[in-house]
Amino acid sequence: MAQGRVSAEALVIRTVDFSETSRVVTLFSRERGRVGILAKGARRERSPFLGSLELATCVRVCYIPSPRMGLGTLTACDVTEAHRGLGRSLDRYYGACVVLEVLRGLEADEDPSPGLYDAARAALGDLSEGRPAAVALLAFLARAVRAAGFEPRLDACAHCGGALDGGEDLAYSALAGGMVCPPCEPTDVGVVRVARGAIPVLASLGGGVRRLERVRVPGRLRVDLGRLLSTHLVHVTEREFRMRPYLERILAEGGEAGKGPRC
Ligand SMILES: [Zn+2]
Repeated sequence: MAQGRVSAEALVIRTVDFSETSRVVTLFSRERGRVGILAKGARRERSPFLGSLELATCVRVCYIPSPRMGLGTLTACDVTEAHRGLGRSLDRYYGACVVLEVLRGLEADEDPSPGLYDAARAALGDLSEGRPAAVALLAFLARAVRAAGFEPRLDACAHCGGALDGGEDLAYSALAGGMVCPPCEPTDVGVVRVARGAIPVLASLGGGVRRLERVRVPGRLRVDLGRLLSTHLVHVTEREFRMRPYLERILAEGGEAGKGPRC
């Protein structure tokens, strides 16, 4: 590799056409975090980059970084995983859009987060291969907030540290950054009610589950966890979560209805 060039494994998380022949690509790199790159000539018919810079594709790239944190220049790109199965159902496609939007919200320029990268890569692989979309997305969201350092507090009250007493329903507060006990609950606005049984599921998924096919999450818990995690994401990223309605629909229906095991 020529001096000054950088090689990295990355996911394509955004593409924007630039001029009549080129494209600006945002990559989420395992080694370097988010990187913006200019792919010169990528829109030409005979471009070596044609077809390799699609959204959610995993690539091995070589590029010349910009000296001033601007756009780098792409010099080589090989697809390592195309995730072609994402186009085979709406659940898989919308699921991939959820993953990409969360990545755009959680990562920062030149700030590597290998845990977040691995969670996203695993989720896109699971979705592409037709594993239950609902569980794949819950596992991704749980792992992603943990890897990014925004894990909600689940073991005790996030306000006072007290025990999470109460009935079968517990309260999550975005303001507190986790679950809150009954005495603290009235002090917060926008509290989300969550079934108690959802908490160990969330802790387990956040720790990384290998065989997602075997994970069964009842419908009520899926819906509660989806509401908790999407509320949490909006709070920690301070930005709108546009794919939220699609995420909530997949979680309510279980994902991949009629195809493979229901979860
Ligand atoms: Zn409390």
